[in-house]
Amino acid sequence: MVTAGDDMAAGDVDAAPLLPAKPGAVRYRCSSCGNLTRFDVVATRQTRAFYHFTLAGECRIEDEDVLSELVESVTCRWCGSTAAVEVISPIAG
Ligand SMILES: [Zn+2]
Repeated sequence: MVTAGDDMAAGDVDAAPLLPAKPGAVRYRCSSCGNLTRFDVVATRQTRAFYHFTLAGECRIEDEDVLSELVESVTCRWCGSTAAVEVISPIAG
């Protein structure tokens, strides 16, 4: 296990993993079954988008920025665990 465990120096740690605004800037790992690749992520996003309408009324979304994102829960698709999913750093360098 790579889990920090009872790390007093880490301060208060939220149970829910946090995700930065950009998907792909974080990775998850299920410490229960070792899953690295498949997760159900429930998130609330606030976005700003450029809606480009034609005169006929067709809409095309040309640009979308994520202004904020709150990850509610991350669940492992393999074993169904939520508590065992931990955030790991993306491969650095
Ligand atoms: Zn799992």
